[in-house]
Amino acid sequence: MVAPADVPAPPVPQTIAMTSGADGLTHRVAEVALGEALLAGRGTSPALCGHTVLVTSLGAEPGRPCPRCAARTAGRPGS
Ligand SMILES: [Zn+2]
Repeated sequence: MVAPADVPAPPVPQTIAMTSGADGLTHRVAEVALGEALLAGRGTSPALCGHTVLVTSLGAEPGRPCPRCAARTAGRPGS
């Protein structure tokens, strides 16, 4: 029998920190999702937490880390 805590979490993709102009938080956006958004000519990309980040905010000042994105990348090296 396996306890729920022993079930490995699903893999989290490589991410980039992006500050959203909408809420001022720095979210984690999957590199794949950002690449797809840029190739499709979209100005937005979904963050790990589900927030939609404006790609135009790449040069924005860093904001407070998004707690929901942080929870999804916790324990990973280099994040
Ligand atoms: Zn977030």
